[in-house]
Amino acid sequence: MNKKIIKTALCCFAVIAMIILGFTTYTYFSIKDYLDSKTVFAVVIVGVVVTLAMGIAIAGVSAFAMALYKDKENSEDKKMAQIIYGSEVAKELKDEMKMEIAKREDEGKKVPTLCVILVGNNPASVSYVTGKEKACKEIGLGSKMIHLEENTTQEELMRVVKECNEDSSIDGILVQLPLPKHLNEKEVLWAIDPNKDVDGLHPINVGKLHLGEEGFVPCTPQGIIELLKRMNVDLRGKRAVVIGRSNLVGNPVARLLMNENATVTICHSKTENIQAICKEADILVVAIGKAKFVTKDFVKEGAYVIDVGVNRNDEGKLVGDVDFDDVVDHVSAITPVPKGVGPMTITMLLKNTIQACKNAEV
Ligand code: NAP
Repeated sequence: MNKKIIKTALCCFAVIAMIILGFTTYTYFSIKDYLDSKTVFAVVIVGVVVTLAMGIAIAGVSAFAMALYKDKENSEDKKMAQIIYGSEVAKELKDEMKMEIAKREDEGKKVPTLCVILVGNNPASVSYVTGKEKACKEIGLGSKMIHLEENTTQEELMRVVKECNEDSSIDGILVQLPLPKHLNEKEVLWAIDPNKDVDGLHPINVGKLHLGEEGFVPCTPQGIIELLKRMNVDLRGKRAVVIGRSNLVGNPVARLLMNENATVTICHSKTENIQAICKEADILVVAIGKAKFVTKDFVKEGAYVIDVGVNRNDEGKLVGDVDFDDVVDHVSAITPVPKGVGPMTITMLLKNTIQACKNAEV
């Protein structure tokens, strides 16, 4: 029982005791002239005993009620973690974009178009590309798919990228990664027109991000910041830790968090004392590709946890890099896997394509 409960119980006791003592005293003076001394003595004793008994009973009941209330409050606090469904935020954003595209059509403006280049038949890549086409359709965005054979040469692929760069009907170009091993990924990404680089991987856009200039930002990191903003998380001055330093997620998300005035630390596979560093984070972003790597020993009480990882467990189920069940009671908010960061990635791709189209009109 804490001090507050004891104080409340004592106050209840004092108030009840004073009321009953007052009443007993009043009764005593009212009857003392009519009764003999033994009866008066008995009345006083009964009065005192009743006072004590009632005071103790009421104080006990109040302390018990307060303790129950406190327990309930504590258990509700523990369950308070907000589950951040990127799927819901993505839906809101897609609805907004759908209206914007419809309005553009009404005004006789161009419908923005995304071109996705897929080389080979990697099942995960095929499924991602299908998801992107579906998302384009959902909001009325134009989509073009160029599916090349697995044995496409570097020259052929470079020629296709060049044609897309020159095609004014295409606003955004995305080359689905990873490319088959015989192809030079860097050369292909660097050949995309930076103004159509809606994946934000061209060095000009990477440079712009690090200089704090307007440009295209990789979709997953952009989606993470959008999620945090929509949740009204104030990043300014907060301690943010990012686990992972890839060019696709870790590095750009760290830079974006810094641009939002968070104080950022990046951890990677060679980081020492990683648990202790993560435990200092108000915002913890995990992008390493290791199922359930982050347990509650990494997480500060009340932190915001963004789980970027997409892994399959032994049963073939999708799981994140964070052990969700282990940390959920310790955090203020957490993104689940699936339905967390993933849906935001495609949504940001759509957003970037619309932006590319608008940039070209200026
Ligand atoms: P990546 O290129 O393989 O990079 C992994 C990063 O994690 C590296 O920086 C690596 O450190 C670090 N790392 C690996 N093991 C570690 C450990 N034990 N302790 C600390 N750091 C460790 O992966 P990625 O492309 O960034 O993707 C990361 C995860 O996010 C994957 O599961 C991927 O599927 C997922 N993802 C999801 C989306 C989405 O839309 N939901 C989008 C992109 C990626 P080193 O640099 O030292 O090697």
